[in-house]
Amino acid sequence: MRFSEITGQPELKSRLIKLSREGKISPVTLLCEKGGYGALSLAIALAQYNSCRFRTEEDSCGSCPSCKKFSGLVHPDLHFSFPVNTTKKITADKKPVSDHFISAFRKSFLSDYYIDENSWYQEIEIENKQGIIGVNEANLIIKKLSLKPFENGAKYLIIWLPERMNQEAANRLLKTLEEPPDETFILLVTKAPEKIIPTVLSRCRIFEVPPVEQEITAEWLEKEFAINKDQALILAKISSGSISVAKELIKTEQEGEEYYDYAVSFINGALSSDLQLIISTWEKIATLGREKQKMFCVNTLQLIRRVYMVSLGMKEISYVPGYQKSDVDKWASLLKPSFYILIYKALTTAMADIERNVNSKFIFADLGNRFFLSLQ
Ligand SMILES: [Zn+2]
Repeated sequence: MRFSEITGQPELKSRLIKLSREGKISPVTLLCEKGGYGALSLAIALAQYNSCRFRTEEDSCGSCPSCKKFSGLVHPDLHFSFPVNTTKKITADKKPVSDHFISAFRKSFLSDYYIDENSWYQEIEIENKQGIIGVNEANLIIKKLSLKPFENGAKYLIIWLPERMNQEAANRLLKTLEEPPDETFILLVTKAPEKIIPTVLSRCRIFEVPPVEQEITAEWLEKEFAINKDQALILAKISSGSISVAKELIKTEQEGEEYYDYAVSFINGALSSDLQLIISTWEKIATLGREKQKMFCVNTLQLIRRVYMVSLGMKEISYVPGYQKSDVDKWASLLKPSFYILIYKALTTAMADIERNVNSKFIFADLGNRFFLSLQ
C-alpha cells in the first residue's frame, strides 16, 4: 500500500512521511477517524514507507522486496490484530484469534481499502455476534512482539478497531504499550476513541484523520465508477468525506438501475391503464431469483419514498439519482396520496411472501394488480 493509492489526505500523508524521514514516528501511534476516511490504509502505507529501502520524499518505491511483501500484506514483520469471534469452523475451544482469520483479512482489505467493521463481520461469518479483541489475542501479540524482526528492519503491529479490546486484554497489553520492545511500532486504527480503555489511549500519540475533501472524493468517484461530474459531486456531498459511504451509495444506485425499469412499467402501466404492460412486467420479475426479487422490492420502496418526498415539496432531501429525475417529478404531480400507502403495504407484503417461499408468480401477479388497482 503506497500513500498514492489512498484517496485524498495530502496534509496527513506529508506529516507522516516527514516524521518517518526524521525517525520520529512514535512507537505507539493511534489514527482515528469517523469511518471511511482511509485510516487503516494510512497505517499500512506508513509501515510500508518506514520499511522501504528506496523511498522518496513523496512515497515508498512500491517495488523493493519489502514493498512487494507489504503490498500483499505478507511481510513477516507486519502483524495484525482485529476483532474476531467464534464461527462454524473456529469454535470456542479453538480460542479464536486474528491469526485464524488472517487470509480473510488480507483478501477483504486488498479488495476494499476502506473495509468497515460490519462488512468485516459479514465476511468472516460470525453471524450476529460482536467481534472482540480478547486476552488470547493479547497473549499472542506479546509473543509475536517478543520475537526479533525477521528482516533487517522494524516490526509493525497494526491493531484495527482497538475499541473492541476487552479489559482483560487491555490489562495484559499495558506494559507492552507503555514500553514496546525495541524496533517495534504499534499502530492503532479506531473509529471510536472514546470507547478505548483510557489507560491504553493515554499511551498513544494521536492523529485525527479528517474527512476526504469533497472535490477529491468527487474526482475519485468520477474516475473509479465512470459517472458524470454532477452526479459525482452530489454523491461526494452526501457522503461527507467518507469513501466507504460514497461507494455504498454508488452500489445501491447501480443496483437500483437494474430494477428501475420494472418499477417504471408498473407505475406507467397503472397510470395509462395498460394491463398488458403490467402482466408482461410481473411475468419477468417472477423469473428472477429470490434475492433479486427482494432487491426489486427494496429499490421500488426507495423510489416510492422519493416520489412521496418530492410530492411533499422536499426535493432537496429526497436524493433522486439523475436518471430518475424526470419520472419522479412527473409522478409526484400525478399520483394520489392513497397510492403511496397502498403500494407501501403491497411491497412489504410481497417481501414477506418472498421470505415465506410463496410461489413468485402469485406474489408478483398480485403486486402488479395492486399497482393497477391503486390508480384506477
Ligand atoms: Zn520500497
